[in-house]
Amino acid sequence: MFNKPNLPKECRKFESRFEDYLGGVPDSELDAHLAGCGDCRMLLQDSRLAGDLLREAWEPASEPSRAFLANVMARIHQEEARAKSPAAFWAPLEFLASRLSLTAAVLLLALSVYLVGFAPQRDVALNSIRTELSASDIPQPPSDPVSNEEVLQSLAERNNGR
Ligand SMILES: [Zn+2]
Repeated sequence: MFNKPNLPKECRKFESRFEDYLGGVPDSELDAHLAGCGDCRMLLQDSRLAGDLLREAWEPASEPSRAFLANVMARIHQEEARAKSPAAFWAPLEFLASRLSLTAAVLLLALSVYLVGFAPQRDVALNSIRTELSASDIPQPPSDPVSNEEVLQSLAERNNGR
């Protein structure tokens, strides 16, 4: 439970009894050991704190939790209703995909400007970008007029022509 590799053997023996001790089981031997061992007192304090935190996390709060649960149930019903119409489910995904490819295209444009202007080994750089950003990695919306692959190809051709 506690990662203390250089804890004396005697302390390890007591460490396994902390849980019962904290649970209220009397242990006079452990009491005596704690009186003379600061390490174990600290460990015991740590495990008591951990136990308190755990109990707090598990303890059901009264009013806010009921409101929260109602909220969650309402959300689940909403999602269920949405899941029944496939178009409504796919719409945000398609939007995200179109946003993604647009962003990728803008990024590539900016990169190509940078590479043409500043980088001395632009062939190598462009080729490495090309392998990183293949079209299969980026979700494609069905109605995208220019795919990323085409953009990359035209960029690479233009670059090789120079
Ligand atoms: Zn000890």
